[in-house]
Amino acid sequence: MLITLKEEAPKKEREALLLWLVSCGLHPQLSQLDQMPIIGIEKNLPEELNRELRSNPIVVDLIETSLPYKMVSRAVKNTPTVIQIGDVEIGGDEITIIAGPCAIESEEQLVQTALGLKKNGVKILRASAFKPRSSPYSFQGMGVEGLKIHKRAKEKHGLLIETEVMDPRDVAITAEHVDILRVGARNMQNFELLKELGKCNKPVILKRGISATIEEWLLSAEYIMAHGNHRVILCERGIRTFETATRSTLDLSSIAIVKQLTHLPIIVDPSHAAGRSDIIPALSRGAIATGADGLLIEVHYKPKESRCDQRQALSLDEFHAIATDIEKVAKVMGKKV
Ligand code: PEP
Ligand code: MN
Repeated sequence: MLITLKEEAPKKEREALLLWLVSCGLHPQLSQLDQMPIIGIEKNLPEELNRELRSNPIVVDLIETSLPYKMVSRAVKNTPTVIQIGDVEIGGDEITIIAGPCAIESEEQLVQTALGLKKNGVKILRASAFKPRSSPYSFQGMGVEGLKIHKRAKEKHGLLIETEVMDPRDVAITAEHVDILRVGARNMQNFELLKELGKCNKPVILKRGISATIEEWLLSAEYIMAHGNHRVILCERGIRTFETATRSTLDLSSIAIVKQLTHLPIIVDPSHAAGRSDIIPALSRGAIATGADGLLIEVHYKPKESRCDQRQALSLDEFHAIATDIEKVAKVMGKKV
């Protein structure tokens, strides 16, 4: 159940209400949705407790739901959430393309890639400083040094920047350096990380875990929201199946289902789904035609020199062709790029 509170409800009275709920044996989480304070509780409550709650002057409404995730659900908000970041709006009538290299390698690499992408209308540059690699012997990313390079390069290219965070201890420093934080597929259920991101004031891209169901994915989004951060963007990046022709199988059906279940925006990462550059244009068109709000694509100014995920890295020319295609599909969907 969700309990919505008056925006002006004094802190003391909110705390008293939380303490009362705890004394009833519950585990309430105080958060907010579009400025409205909101308390989440696992279950719907019996009528006598509901009556008590309704008589509390700071309570606006009780929203009952049997769904395990609550704040992300359309039961609480039936209009799409639009996330504003600088002059970009994710989840509205615009398709947002986030693009850039897999990893931060140097300032030159970031600036050159970013300037090429900017010419194609990209407003957000992706690049990771902390890399979750399957092998402990692979390049692990530049770490905090990489974050500094990302921030410094921004002064030259002027785009918004995003990056992955893997460890709850890195959330604060990462949030100081970038505009958007990303949770990778392997960390979708790193609950300590999700809780920490709930306390952070930057938007979060939450990737779907490699073997996660849609419900588990939405519950992970609920973690971030229940801990106070309502700016969550879901990202479908493919799931593990028996198929070996691609790195993962892009689950386009999740876009349509997520749109029914939640008000949160959803973008698609065709690069990690495919694991190969040749089918990224087709997957990108498919994602936008299925209703995705945007794309997350790996592009490198010199793909052959990419230090990771080289097989799926697109060149700036290849990206240009995709951007042109996407504009056409977006138009059919009544959206602009
Ligand atoms: C990435 O986007 O750099 C990445 C590692 O992707 P994923 O977490 O989806 O594998
Ligand atoms: Mn990658």
